[in-house]
Amino acid sequence: MLQTIIDEIGAQMRGEEDRGKVADYIPELSCIDPRQFALSVCLASGEQFSTGDADQHFSMQSISKVFTLAIALGRLGEGLWRRVGREPSNSAFNSIVEVELSAGRPRNPFMNAGAILVTDAILAKGVPRHTLAELLHFIRAAAGDDSILINPVVAASEKATGDRNWALAHYLRSCGNLTNTVDLVLGTYFHQCAIELSCAQLARAGRFLAGIQSGPPLIAADNVRNINALMMTCGHYDGSGEFAFRVGIPAKSGVGGGILAVVPGAASIAVWSPGLNSFGNSKLGTQALELLSKRLGLSLFEPEPFRLPGVAAA
Ligand code: GLN
Repeated sequence: MLQTIIDEIGAQMRGEEDRGKVADYIPELSCIDPRQFALSVCLASGEQFSTGDADQHFSMQSISKVFTLAIALGRLGEGLWRRVGREPSNSAFNSIVEVELSAGRPRNPFMNAGAILVTDAILAKGVPRHTLAELLHFIRAAAGDDSILINPVVAASEKATGDRNWALAHYLRSCGNLTNTVDLVLGTYFHQCAIELSCAQLARAGRFLAGIQSGPPLIAADNVRNINALMMTCGHYDGSGEFAFRVGIPAKSGVGGGILAVVPGAASIAVWSPGLNSFGNSKLGTQALELLSKRLGLSLFEPEPFRLPGVAAA
């Protein structure tokens, strides 16, 4: 039943003419074929349902910010909030003016400036290689899959052209809110964004946020709740209100065209389609999640309690 629903959504998305615009400000991402689409759902039962190009690898980009935040909260706890806020923002993900307005304390950990700070925080005085190994270890453990890797060509491509991120990092450092050199922090940040995985792997990697992973929890329940709250309010940048309105569950997007969405206690959902809307979020990915949410009644704002097919009522 769930397989039929997601196959129908996949077929509908494959027929869409307007697929959005692939991120071309990172040269290596500009040549991705926008006709690709994948959707994958992991349930509390351990079952997984996928459709489309679910095994095709893509660039995680900003979805990696969820995992660096998980590590940072585990390590620093409340102390992290001295350096970065937890309020949504009306500005684009890479806004420069926003950092000045907030006096170098970015509004949230998902805008680029905030994510760069989180990377600085988990880098501590350390070695980027070790921090990236820790991050990969975390994502692999979450997905239950040791084959997930960083694409160094994508990282180098962004390092060479990501002038806005260099500007943001230099500004943060001038405010005294970056402990490592800009070079070290951005070298790490560009590599974390260049982690590649498939839609099926991403859905599995998100299970810890839905509380449906097998084995011991990867992070404390308090941190899961806080990350989900931030995904709900800030996960789609200045498109977060629209996403809450249309889909209604915590989710984080990346300019590689992926979105990781969480139905707390019930499901981890990943979707991928490389074309983006004007907010830099996957156009068809958002559309597909909206369809899925409406068909299954997933929105957390539904007045009726939902029940996923194959999941017993609580
Ligand atoms: N690496 C990208 C950047 O910093 C990530 C942005 C995104 O996915 N929204 O611009």
